Amino acid sequence: MSATAGGNAGENLYPVALRLAGRRVLVVGGGAVATRRVPALLDAGARVDVVAPELTPALRAQADAGRVRWLARRFRPTDLDGAWFVQVAVDDPEAAEAVSAAALERRIFCVRADDRHAATAWTPAVTRHGPVTVAALGGGDPHLAVAVRDAIRDLLAAGALPVAAPEPASRAGDPAAGAGAVGRVALVGSGPGDPELITVKGRRLLAEADVVVADRLVPGLLLDELRPDVELVDASKIPYGPSRAQEEINEILVDRARAGAFVVRLKGGDPYVFGRGGEELLACAAAGVPVTVVPGVTSSIAAPAVAGIPVTHRGVAHEFTVVSGHLPPEHAASLVDWPALARLRGTLVVLMGLKNLPAIAAALLRHGRAPETPAAVVQEGTTGGQRVVRAALAGIAEAAREAGLRPPAVLVVGDVVSVLTGGEDAAPGARHAG
Ligand code: SAH
Repeated sequence: MSATAGGNAGENLYPVALRLAGRRVLVVGGGAVATRRVPALLDAGARVDVVAPELTPALRAQADAGRVRWLARRFRPTDLDGAWFVQVAVDDPEAAEAVSAAALERRIFCVRADDRHAATAWTPAVTRHGPVTVAALGGGDPHLAVAVRDAIRDLLAAGALPVAAPEPASRAGDPAAGAGAVGRVALVGSGPGDPELITVKGRRLLAEADVVVADRLVPGLLLDELRPDVELVDASKIPYGPSRAQEEINEILVDRARAGAFVVRLKGGDPYVFGRGGEELLACAAAGVPVTVVPGVTSSIAAPAVAGIPVTHRGVAHEFTVVSGHLPPEHAASLVDWPALARLRGTLVVLMGLKNLPAIAAALLRHGRAPETPAAVVQEGTTGGQRVVRAALAGIAEAAREAGLRPPAVLVVGDVVSVLTGGEDAAPGARHAG
């Protein structure tokens, strides 16, 4: 890839990785190119100075936050004194040439956005995967570099390359740790149903797992991608009541990790939104097993979103409240203050509430929420089975029943329900959206 450079045919490059932590790097220019270059420099820990008469708003924000130092003027050769590396991100060839010349004189490697042939260094196309950094050069053809980088990134994301999982956190002094044999657990949110709505990190950890313990609401296609040697535990098939099943799951996580496995506990939506993620974390911690938490896109926000309902909207709702409706409002064990919720003017999102929908709607009305408040039930949001029913609060339970909706579904109550549709379809009745 890097053997021939267009216009520099036959030139062999010498690839290196710069360790920039605490070292001064100069960026000349404050436009779009500089905006794209600065984050990776900061990520590497460089002390970044940007010299430019003006900055893009994004760079301005970095300067205001003290993450970069802004020299608000044109470049002077002495700006390079003490710099290890310089990025030239200006369009004007003469100005760029002046920086190049000053850098050459000081033997500071110089990347040029305007003319790579005039530069003394090239930046590769990069992808990062846990501890691994892959840098690709296209021999002077940036498109080739990006294409190669993308291909490798996809292989890494699919777990097709033998990249070791990052080392677990230090376990010194922990009596539960065997001779380096203890594995670890990641509590990973799988997102609301669409397999593309898992996070990049979640997908990477899934590809590295030895054992996957999955919930019922986890997208099946994600499990389809697992390597054949991965042990898949279907947590929804554990044949006990809910609390015994939870103990069983905790035991599986701890046992497998203690045997040295990397266990991914994959949960629908976000692991901490009615996901019992906290209980599993405590069980692992008590057993000395290190745990990483990877948040997920929660159905409480995503299911309304794909049904055209923003949970907040300027001038309409300044709050949204997410509650569980698995217990009816009058139930002795319910921790939800339904009268208080009925008094809120913002958005209410109820999970696990389909069965109790008539009682929930009745409680909200009884405690003062207006009967004409727009409401919607979103079934299987973000999936092929998505269905949306809209009605006024007074009629939502009947509309959902008539439409034959089934779990998983969220109830949304509030003026945001009709804010994007203008309320014209607030009449009861099912319709598909998505
Ligand atoms: N941790 C999950 C919620 C678990 S509780 C999250 O953050 O999304 C399970 C409840 O979530 C279901 O009863 C339903 O109310 C809701 N839910 C999960 N996925 C859903 C989806 N795709 N569409 C609508 N509701 C969903």
